[in-house]
Amino acid sequence: MGEFDLIARYFKRPVRRAALGVGDDCALLAPAPGMQLAISSDMLVEGRHFLSTVDPFRLGHKALAVNLSDLAACGAKPQAFTLALAMPRADEARLDGFSRGLFALADAHGCELIGGDTTQGPLNLCITVFGEVPPGHALLRSGARAGDDLYVSGTLGDARLALEVFRGTRSLPQQAFDAARARMEMPTPRVALGLALRGVATAAADISDGLVGDLGHILQASRVGASVDTSVAINLIANKDPITLGNGQFDAEMALECVLAGGDDYELVFTAPASARAAVQAASAQTQTPVTRIGRIEDTPGLRLLDAQGCLRPQRYAAFDHFA
Ligand code: ADP
Ligand code: MG
Repeated sequence: MGEFDLIARYFKRPVRRAALGVGDDCALLAPAPGMQLAISSDMLVEGRHFLSTVDPFRLGHKALAVNLSDLAACGAKPQAFTLALAMPRADEARLDGFSRGLFALADAHGCELIGGDTTQGPLNLCITVFGEVPPGHALLRSGARAGDDLYVSGTLGDARLALEVFRGTRSLPQQAFDAARARMEMPTPRVALGLALRGVATAAADISDGLVGDLGHILQASRVGASVDTSVAINLIANKDPITLGNGQFDAEMALECVLAGGDDYELVFTAPASARAAVQAASAQTQTPVTRIGRIEDTPGLRLLDAQGCLRPQRYAAFDHFA
């Protein structure tokens, strides 16, 4: 199968929203009058962002999910995406699974594939997403203010737990491992929540490199600090029961490491004034997305981790950094 047959077979779909899709030198996309385009790219490299053994359907899902997560963090509505794909050979079984996983998530969000590039090479996937947001309504990292509440969506740390199992440093009961692995391989982009938080949240980011790191970006951009109640945050890991020490006791250090510095969560971390608590709850209920208040924004720069008594804990969590 040649390059163009492959594109036609697995990636060419009729477009409804875009003016022109796959097949010409460019795609044409007309944003609704007066709207801003929110644009983001995320690349997935084999061995770095996913294991070679991953199910192709899940890989297709994840490649788009991590991009939609960026739109969610901006409160933008997904419209379209492009896909640049390098792969060692045209493996039809894998392409079939990959494109099915990709389009299943794309269809769920009404986001259409409008173009891309396909080449032979080491497996590497780069998606660029385009979303719409009314001017002035995008959620930015720079809007947090001292006194704001600090929230995260969903659960954190389970993807990291699965990674530890793959690395061989942990073992989990099969059911717990399957659940953690699904969080790692099929993240849920919080698009509906991001949209519902427009006009409610003062700042937002998605959590791809761990809570401490991505919250750090908000703190830096907003020139503020924060304190996080670790006795609340520790409960954000979904797979609590299997995280035990040799003696069967709950391994709190491991759980906190996963929650605070795990990465690959694709949840939202966001801030909102205390006066907006009811509005945050309404956004959470309306989008059926759990939201937890884990701390507050403060004037003093830096991140402070507190225990249940409000005492300072040692800060020893770092964000994931490809070049550190
Ligand atoms: P060009 O010769 O201009 O580089 P290509 O031959 O790379 O164009 O691609 C032909 C058409 O197929 C273009 O419309 C391009 O956007 C589209 N395309 C190529 N690869 C993909 C892909 N993986 N997914 C979606 N569209 C693709
Ligand atoms: Mg090309």
